[in-house]
Amino acid sequence: MSNSTNATANLAVPAVQKEIERRRTFAIISHPDAGKTTLTEKLLFHGGVIHETGEVKGKSGTKAVTSDWMELERQKGISITSSVMTFDYNDLRINLLDTPGHKDFSEDTYRVLMAVESACMLIDVAKGVEDRTKKLYDVCRYRNIPIFTFVNKLDREGKDPLTLIDEIEKTLNMQCYPVTWPLGIGQRFKGIYNRLNKKVYFYDQRREDDLAVEVYDFSGPQDPILEKYLDHESLQQVRDELELIESALPPFDVNDFLTGKLSPVTFGSAKQNFGVDTFLQFFTQFAPGPKARPTKKGTEVNPLSAFFSGFVFKIQANMDKRHRDRIAFVRICSGKFERGMKVNHARLEREFRLSYSSQFVAADKETVDEAYAGDIVGVADTGNFAIGDCLSTQGYVTFEDIPKFAPELFAKLSVRDALKRTKLNEALMHLSEEGAIQLFFDPIIGNQETIIGAVGELQFEVLVHRLQDEYNLEVKLTRLPFSVARWPRTEDGKPLSQLKGNFQMFRDVIDQPVLLLNQEWDLNWAQKENPDVVFASSISRA
Ligand code: GDP
Repeated sequence: MSNSTNATANLAVPAVQKEIERRRTFAIISHPDAGKTTLTEKLLFHGGVIHETGEVKGKSGTKAVTSDWMELERQKGISITSSVMTFDYNDLRINLLDTPGHKDFSEDTYRVLMAVESACMLIDVAKGVEDRTKKLYDVCRYRNIPIFTFVNKLDREGKDPLTLIDEIEKTLNMQCYPVTWPLGIGQRFKGIYNRLNKKVYFYDQRREDDLAVEVYDFSGPQDPILEKYLDHESLQQVRDELELIESALPPFDVNDFLTGKLSPVTFGSAKQNFGVDTFLQFFTQFAPGPKARPTKKGTEVNPLSAFFSGFVFKIQANMDKRHRDRIAFVRICSGKFERGMKVNHARLEREFRLSYSSQFVAADKETVDEAYAGDIVGVADTGNFAIGDCLSTQGYVTFEDIPKFAPELFAKLSVRDALKRTKLNEALMHLSEEGAIQLFFDPIIGNQETIIGAVGELQFEVLVHRLQDEYNLEVKLTRLPFSVARWPRTEDGKPLSQLKGNFQMFRDVIDQPVLLLNQEWDLNWAQKENPDVVFASSISRA
């Protein structure tokens, strides 16, 4: 660390700054089956982490990727499908944070988006904007992070690109900027036009084994090269589309992109590894690096600062009895991490030594000795860390809270032995502080019947397992019919406990009024009855 007293005294030494500046941390947001695993595999391939691509079937019939990848997973002893993948591309160090889908979808998935500087929204060309994508997009919007869009599966029949772009813009209330444009679709998909470098890329989709791509300079929609590759029908359509987008669209506005107002769109086929490199090139050119992070005091921490700081955005409890340890995932916000370093834990007002840390799929390291702002490190935890905890080597830094997101699944628990009710309530409080579940109370009966809220099924499974395993509590979980939670507020953000209409109000753990409803329809009704009320779907953690 620099001890110099000049104007840059608080900044890290140049070599550290250089490392920080080359970090890019992002996540892929998508609906299950859009092709996230396939795209991830291709990105790792381009990043040189894996050397072959091609899917293999996993144990339970679920898809896994190449044996290289599984080997890495085995070596690291951590499931990469629930963590971070790191690779280098164009002199940048890229951290791709996984947003678990399907069954393992949980609040953690949302929180991952608090730790990235940008996201890639992956859309299936036939299905358009799907439910899960929309939810994850809303979380990105909450932080105004820039979003790249990758339209996938162009080798299959789907919506025509103009209709799709219109759908994205209308559904998400965001502008799109096509960076590339598909030349044909489905079986007639022959290539893409890169509007930024004015080149066309053609490939033969029948040759999955050897993707020879031919590249030409492109003079515009009437360029005769299109006639060589496209059949009559595609040719006319592509020319009309290109004429339209070239004349109607303003140039790419980087600022609108960086503030989350406009999404650059690229097209391709992850399965056939076509268009993925174009996306990566665009990504490396425009994805923002580590940003200054706001603190609760209203100040910001410069990522290039000499001191280390970071926050916990995810805690992974081990489901395996033999390994009771948990891993706290720390997003580094400033400076440099060194294994064994001592940090101040702001919530506990204590010093901790970060003695064990795991690196993920980075080239050839097993544990991390060093990491920089933008990186994620996994720290072994014996119960000292909670979601949102802030660590720093200089004083007690407290970053802005990680919000809670509206749960969609609800349940209540009963214990066989009624005497254990108090113990259960204590355990639930503890697990809710940790961010594993959310709790809601009926104001009349209080904690006699706590309502548990979760975003994904797996959270309930983990809860029941942990109550048994860690607290020796055997519980019965009964699902409740609610599916929507909203925090009613005035327009200037004050909590509201009275609403017009016959709505029963509940309380969350910090005694804020919250509405639990059976379906979206009820929410629309509540909104109609109370037009001035804001029904917030997220709330800052206490
Ligand atoms: P995930 O659930 O989002 O991780 O999706 P996967 O990567 O597992 O892909 C879901 C299915 O879509 C698999 O059968 C993939 O082979 C297939 N798939 C992914 N990308 C493409 C693509 O570009 N074209 C086609 N035809 N299929 C694809």
